[in-house]
Amino acid sequence: MHSIEYDRAGDPAQALRLIAQPNAKFIGGGTNLLDLMKGDVEQPARLVDINRIGLDRIAELPGGGLRIGALARNSDAANHPLVRTRYPLLSQALLAGASGQLRNMATMGGNLLQRTRCPYFMDTAFDMCNKRRPGSGCGAREGYNRMHAILGASEACIAVHPSDMAVALAALDATVQVSGPQGERAIPLAEFHRLPGTTPQFDTVLDPRELITAIDLPPPLFQQHVHYLKVRDRASYAFALVSVAAALEMEGGVVRQARVALGGVAHKPWRLPAAEAQLAGQSLSDERSGALADALLAGARPFRDNRFKIDLARRAIVRALRNAGESA
Ligand code: SF4
Repeated sequence: MHSIEYDRAGDPAQALRLIAQPNAKFIGGGTNLLDLMKGDVEQPARLVDINRIGLDRIAELPGGGLRIGALARNSDAANHPLVRTRYPLLSQALLAGASGQLRNMATMGGNLLQRTRCPYFMDTAFDMCNKRRPGSGCGAREGYNRMHAILGASEACIAVHPSDMAVALAALDATVQVSGPQGERAIPLAEFHRLPGTTPQFDTVLDPRELITAIDLPPPLFQQHVHYLKVRDRASYAFALVSVAAALEMEGGVVRQARVALGGVAHKPWRLPAAEAQLAGQSLSDERSGALADALLAGARPFRDNRFKIDLARRAIVRALRNAGESA
């Protein structure tokens, strides 16, 4: 049994002071952290409760974008009128994640920081996991790797990031607002999560003493032609084998701009703007979507149990783009 100190912060400044203590962790909804603590995967000495520091508002930005407070609950964001009407892709992705009860607790900031569900990471009975115990090896590489990465993996780690929300945010060019000892900074979503490389213990570029304060969305471009497609082993409460966030800006049947982000395939949401550019100025067809998918998946490297993901991802991209083109 580990004893844990508990502090409740009253505002963001106090939260930043408290998190500077040794081995302290923020707790918001707790939907991932508490599971990891019960399994001894995470062993913080101190929890800093940030549920009462504000930061749960959803409000328009002066330039036409939207700021979603880091402590807004996933269900509140998904069902907010401005999110539903202006950023339906985000609403769809949020509603595809977890269960209703979890979405009612999980925060937007916490969703970004949730950790991989790789079974070798989640279960301390397994000795080998470089993400949990750096230098111990990767149990998944030669073990059970059906759910694992086909893109961007390293010798040290082949885990995937589990968030649906982050995939839509990547497609929408969101920005993560952060506050820390060095002041405030804005991190593009595409740069927030990192590939595992030789240091898979770090999921993101966030300093542990920094606090996510908000997620900013740019002025809406994709309100009509969007589709979030999640392929999973059962219809709800399951992580993606492959997911696709597809968004199209169309005019008279011609694609002006396309965005395609993949989930369930890498240590971070996967995008390739050069592949998306292939669709600009073209009418949408399965053949052209297939060519985009081939470019997006060109670097895919499967492992023993997840070879199926390459073909599954290709077909999911084509279908998500077709559905996005037909939606209105
Ligand atoms: Fe650990 Fe990553 Fe290997 Fe899973 S894939 S066992 S998280 S190092």
